Amino acid sequence: MRELITFACGQAGNQISSAFWQCILNEHGLDGDGRYIGSNEDEQLAKVGVFFEPSGQEGNSIQVDLEPGTMDTIRSGPLGKLFRPDNYINGESGAGNNFSKGYYTEGAELLDQVLDVARKEAEKTDMLQGFQLVHSLGGGTGSGLGTNLLTKLREEFPDRMLATWSVLPSPKVSDTVVEPYNATLSFHQLVENSDMTFCLDNEALYDICQRTLRTKNPTYSDLNSIISFAMSGCSTTLRFPGQLNSDLRKMGVNLVPFPRLHFFTTGFAPLVAPGSKAYQSLKTSELIAQGYDPKNIMAAIDPRHGKYLTVAAIFRGNVNARDVENEMYNLREKNPAGFVEWIPNNVLTSLCDIAPPQLKMSATFIANTTSIQELFKRTHDQFSLMFRRKAFLHWYTGEGMDEMEFTEAESNLMDLIAEYQQYESAGVDEVDEELYEQEYQDEVDGQQEYADDSVQYADEQ
Ligand code: GDP
Repeated sequence: MRELITFACGQAGNQISSAFWQCILNEHGLDGDGRYIGSNEDEQLAKVGVFFEPSGQEGNSIQVDLEPGTMDTIRSGPLGKLFRPDNYINGESGAGNNFSKGYYTEGAELLDQVLDVARKEAEKTDMLQGFQLVHSLGGGTGSGLGTNLLTKLREEFPDRMLATWSVLPSPKVSDTVVEPYNATLSFHQLVENSDMTFCLDNEALYDICQRTLRTKNPTYSDLNSIISFAMSGCSTTLRFPGQLNSDLRKMGVNLVPFPRLHFFTTGFAPLVAPGSKAYQSLKTSELIAQGYDPKNIMAAIDPRHGKYLTVAAIFRGNVNARDVENEMYNLREKNPAGFVEWIPNNVLTSLCDIAPPQLKMSATFIANTTSIQELFKRTHDQFSLMFRRKAFLHWYTGEGMDEMEFTEAESNLMDLIAEYQQYESAGVDEVDEELYEQEYQDEVDGQQEYADDSVQYADEQ
C-alpha cells in the first residue's frame, strides 16, 4: 500500500484536518473508532490503507500545535481514539501569530519530537508515497513550524512527495495585522519545499458561504466543511481504486509543468445551501459549470484573467462517462484562449463510482492556473505596505530573525508572480526558444566545465 502521512499543524491545521478525517471516515464506511460499518467492502476498503493503518483502526496522522487547546478538543472529541496518543504533540506557550516563533524559537524546540514520531510512522509503512501538511499561513504555528517541518522532511525523505493544504488569510475572517508577513514568509518556504500546494483562501471560502450557501455569518466550521469537500474530492483518486492520478507523484507529474509553479486552486460541486435539495440530480454540464464558476472556486481569483496550465477533474457517483468526456472536451474547445496551447492534453478526467455521502454525484476540480498570481499579488500588496515602514518588524527581529529574510521572501514572491506571468504570455514558439536557449547555455557551460577540467588535469600532470 502506498501510504500517505498527514500532519495537522496549528489551530487551523488541526480543525481542518479533523473535518477532513470525519469526511473520509464516512466515505470509507468507518466509524469514529475506525471500525468498518459500511456495505461496499470491496471498494471502500481496497485502498483504505493509504490513510489508515491496515486494520482501519488508526489514521496515519500526526497532530502538532504550540498550545494545547485545539488538540485537547480533538482528543476528547469523536475522533479522539482514531489517532495514536503519541501522535499528539503540543507545546504550552503558543506562537502568538508570529512566524518566527513557529519557525525558530518555540517551534524549533518541538520539531525533534515531531520528526521522531514521523520516522516511527514512516517505518511502519509498506511503501510511503509522501506527506501532506494541513496548516494556515497567517498564524505562527502552522506557518512557521509547519514550513520548517517541510524543510526537515525534504532533507530526510528527499524522494517522497510533499503536499500542503495551505489556508490563506483574509481580513474578512481574521483581524490579525501581521498575517501578510507570516504568509509571505511561508510562501518563501513553500515555493522551495512543497511539491504541490492546494491554496485554500479564507476570503473566497467566506464569500462562498455567504453567496452560494447563504450563511449570513460564516464560522470556521462552515469554512472547514467546504474545505473538507475539496480535500476529500482531491484525494479521491488516492483513496479509491482507479488508474489516473492514483498517487501523489502521478498527480504531481500531471499537474506541475515547472517545479516552482505548484500552487493549485480547487473547485467543488454541488455546493448547496442547507435546506435546499442537496440530493437533486444535476447534469454533468451543471456540475462543471458550478465547479468552474469563479464565484465558487476556493481562491479569490478569476481564472478568466489567466490561463490554465493544467486541470484535473474528478467526477464521482452516478455520472455518465461519455457525457463527462464530451463536456470536458468542450471546455477546452470552447475556450482555447483560456488554456496554454503548449501543453496539449492538459485537462485530465477521472471517474469514481462512489459518490460522497448524501450526494448522488459530485465533481472536484484541481486547477493550476496562472491567475493564482492574483492571490500572491494581494498578499504582496498587504506585505509591502507594512514592510516599507518596517511596521511590526521588531516582533520578528526580537525572536532573532534577520530583516534580510523578509527582503528575500518578498523578492521570491515577486519572482513567482513574474514566472506565472511569463508562462501566461508564452506562446508555443517562445517556450521552444527559451528551452533552446537554456539547452544551448547548458551546453556552453558543459563545454566550459570540460575545458576547465582539462586545464586542471593538464596542470596536475
Ligand atoms: P497557528 O495555530 O499559530 O498556526 O494559527 P492559526 O491556525 O489560528 O492561524 C491564523 C490564521 O488561520 C488566520 O488567518 C485565521 O483566519 C485562520 N484560521 C484559524 N482557524 C481556522 C479554521 O479552523 N479554518 C480556517 N479556514 N481558517 C482558520
